[in-house]
Amino acid sequence: MGKKFVYFFGEGQADGSAQMKDLLGGKGANLAEMTRLGIPVPPGFTISTEVCTHYYQSRGQYPEGLQEQVQEALARLEKIMGRRLGDPERPLLVSVRSGAAISMPGMMDTVLNLGLNDTTVEGLAKETGDPRFAYDCYRRFLSMYGDVVLGLKPESEDDLDPFEEIIDALKTSRGVAFDNQLSAEDLKELVQRYKDFIREKIGRDFPQDPTDQLWGAIGAVFGSWDNPRAIAYRELNGIPDEMGTAVNVQSMVFGNMGDDCATGVAFTRNPATGENVLYGEYLVNAQGEDVVAGIRTPQPINKAQATDPDMVSLEEAMPEAYAELERIRKILDRHYRDMQDIEFTIQRGKLWMLQTRSGKRTGFAAFKIAVDMVREGILSEEEALMRVEPNQLNQLLRPIFDMEAKQKAMASGALLSKGLNAGPGAASGRVVFNAVDAEQWAARDEQVILVRLETSPDDIRGMHAAQGILTSRGGMTSHAALVARQMGKVCVVGCGDMEIDYKKRQMSANGRVIREGDWISLDGSTGEVFQGRIPTKPSEVLQVMEGALKAEESPIYQDYQSLMEWADKARRLGVRTNADQPDQAGMALAFGAEGIGLCRTEHMFFEGERINVVRQMILARTKEGRERALAQLLPMQKEDFKGIFRVMNGLPVTIRTLDPPLHEFLPTEDADIRTVADQMGVAEEDVRAKLQALHEANPMLGHRGCRLGVVYPEITAMQARAILEAACEVKKEGTEVRPEIMIPLVGHVAELEDQKRVVDQVAREVMEAHGVEVPYLVGTMIEVPRGALTADKVAREAAFFSFGTNDLTQTVFGISRDDAAKFLHHYLEKKIWQFDPFEKIDQEGVGQLMRMGVEKGRATRADLKVGICGEHGGEPTSVEFCHRIGLDYVSCSPYRVPIARLAAARAAIREKN
Ligand code: ADP
Ligand code: MG
Ligand code: MG
Repeated sequence: MGKKFVYFFGEGQADGSAQMKDLLGGKGANLAEMTRLGIPVPPGFTISTEVCTHYYQSRGQYPEGLQEQVQEALARLEKIMGRRLGDPERPLLVSVRSGAAISMPGMMDTVLNLGLNDTTVEGLAKETGDPRFAYDCYRRFLSMYGDVVLGLKPESEDDLDPFEEIIDALKTSRGVAFDNQLSAEDLKELVQRYKDFIREKIGRDFPQDPTDQLWGAIGAVFGSWDNPRAIAYRELNGIPDEMGTAVNVQSMVFGNMGDDCATGVAFTRNPATGENVLYGEYLVNAQGEDVVAGIRTPQPINKAQATDPDMVSLEEAMPEAYAELERIRKILDRHYRDMQDIEFTIQRGKLWMLQTRSGKRTGFAAFKIAVDMVREGILSEEEALMRVEPNQLNQLLRPIFDMEAKQKAMASGALLSKGLNAGPGAASGRVVFNAVDAEQWAARDEQVILVRLETSPDDIRGMHAAQGILTSRGGMTSHAALVARQMGKVCVVGCGDMEIDYKKRQMSANGRVIREGDWISLDGSTGEVFQGRIPTKPSEVLQVMEGALKAEESPIYQDYQSLMEWADKARRLGVRTNADQPDQAGMALAFGAEGIGLCRTEHMFFEGERINVVRQMILARTKEGRERALAQLLPMQKEDFKGIFRVMNGLPVTIRTLDPPLHEFLPTEDADIRTVADQMGVAEEDVRAKLQALHEANPMLGHRGCRLGVVYPEITAMQARAILEAACEVKKEGTEVRPEIMIPLVGHVAELEDQKRVVDQVAREVMEAHGVEVPYLVGTMIEVPRGALTADKVAREAAFFSFGTNDLTQTVFGISRDDAAKFLHHYLEKKIWQFDPFEKIDQEGVGQLMRMGVEKGRATRADLKVGICGEHGGEPTSVEFCHRIGLDYVSCSPYRVPIARLAAARAAIREKN
């Protein structure tokens, strides 16, 4: 005997198993596995994917020996069933089902009831005493065969399926609404019309010989591997052409034999919530895809799911079959160690399983199922961590839309636009078009959505006040996106098809006009923007963190805590947060941050009256003038730092000295310039002159970062003093402090040397004056290529490095991030970039410099602490990369801390295995 192409399953035994997916396809491998488990599966056989490959490469030829093996398997099947293919009295009917190793939804088709013809249909009618049933099977077979094997499809996109048209015409003439209301005579008539239609279309009769039917169907399934839809799908999903599909030939069971019959689909757990209950739908007296085809309204599987008193659940209608399904659910779920998506049919009260596979689920369900399965002893903690995609945790932390309400909104055409999902979560509110309005409206308890072309630092307070932020410009790392993530705000950016008119206070999208005060809803997890108000549900995890709910009362929170504990056990990488204020730091601590990786001092400069003092400093003509202004800033900054040190309670706090170019702090509007001039007691012209002088063609590459400190050492000195005085004072209160002073934008070790000298000098003075020793570090950001290239030298002065990957990406690519939005989408569409390098670390380019920076830095200073504080620090693929190149920690916005913890754990586990 030659090579084995056909794998039998039946009577508790199977040639194949779940491990053989590549050879038998997912469906065939799992039918074999279920058979081995003793689960009732109609017997049959699987023709391997190797036959498909052969068929495909030899243009429709089968390998030698296949014919014989199929005949042999068929004979075995006939013997088990006590029926024969084409037998006029006891005909065997089979289904011919496709099934590749990777499921390709809707790509290939299935033929049911094969083996029926004008003779066997009569035999089936007599045997069952039910001609209606027999002709119902026959008409289904004719239409499926006509479609799948003979290729009789709708002629155009707008046309109905031709068989559908014929049955609809008959139903109309009989005055009935549903298929199951047609009589035996009607169905006989329908069969005749179908056969006539087929003859008319293909110029010969429908094949009556069941063996011809069988080979016709097998050929059609193999042939469908090569249809344009399937090819396109494979291309899109990177599925290799050589993979091939298998063909399953399986004896039929009938869900359409009467009211003690049914067919259904179910999940072994709820795929939306993860709850450990059977979840699904069924239809009485139906076959195959009737459940999903929407022919009649399916009914819920169990009582708990019945939302309407008219519904009759399977649990009530067929309690015995339901109990059997419940028993099998547990076996499958435990055996596969994962939630399964199953298909079943009940024939005269007996349950048969027709398919099982791992089911698709929401992020929320993925999380709950993984945690539950550890508690149930099915999964190890590390396996559970690998089952939850880090970004799926978002669904746990953000408010979410009520699913049904969102679907309703979708169906009613309320979708206005779709942008980038910059800040996950759900928010509804009334539209306002500027930050001041947002604040004022919010102050009178209105929920608002701030809609802007793009946002700027001036908008921060308005952004804070809003439920959500929507912009028509900008990308995933635009100002709006960045700030929103840090604040944990729902945010959609880059809705390019939305037109915003600030003057008219309106926007238009999708042919609709939305005015100030109108309600809209944002789904920041998908980027969708809806007209109107969609109800939201708050995240329980957050309610617990904010003290609104007790941890004992929230199973979700407890589960979340467990998963996070397991992650912390598994990971090597530390996780810090980017936070500028005590409340943000507090939130990040609740999320599990182990320190602050980036505190941006300039964000404190915008608060209240401070901006005036900052402006005085900038406008001062002399060093003395600057120092006077700085002396006023000192106590303010000091208080900020004290707040943060107290909250962080001994954890490291990395504080960056002044970074942005100074013009960012000056006004641009005429009216503001006048006000500033008045306040400062200087001439308007002087302000304008200063603005002019500070103006930079490319601020990203301009006078900023340590370059400011080099030119104005008194600024660095003031900031160092504020940090260290705060540290000494808090330490005196009895709280440990670990400040890490970070000098930005260093490209040459001498820059760092210069700034470090200033800091060390101040530190000595302050500690002496306070009589306290505070352990502090001075380090640098690595964010220009030269810094990484000369990391061995920079490390002579730096106690730590922190990769500023936002600027490093800009400088490595030679691209200004704010400008990139203009062409980014073209690059992504053309696949010049596979992803946005401001979102995920470009491991090949930027990553190479990071790797070099780590190696060179540690060559000089073995205990050099290395972290990352760019936005990438909370993005899972980037976190994994940071783990691989040996960073000590990542730092990200507070809401991404749990995501980073999980991503870091998964990186460590993956490395082990
Ligand atoms: P898909 O890959 O699209 O899920 P399937 O091969 O699972 O297609 O078949 C489609 C439908 O036909 C399923 O609902 C399944 O339950 C039903 N079906 C398939 N084989 C049989 C059979 N032997 N007896 C009864 N129903 C069947
Ligand atoms: Mg199926
Ligand atoms: Mg930077």
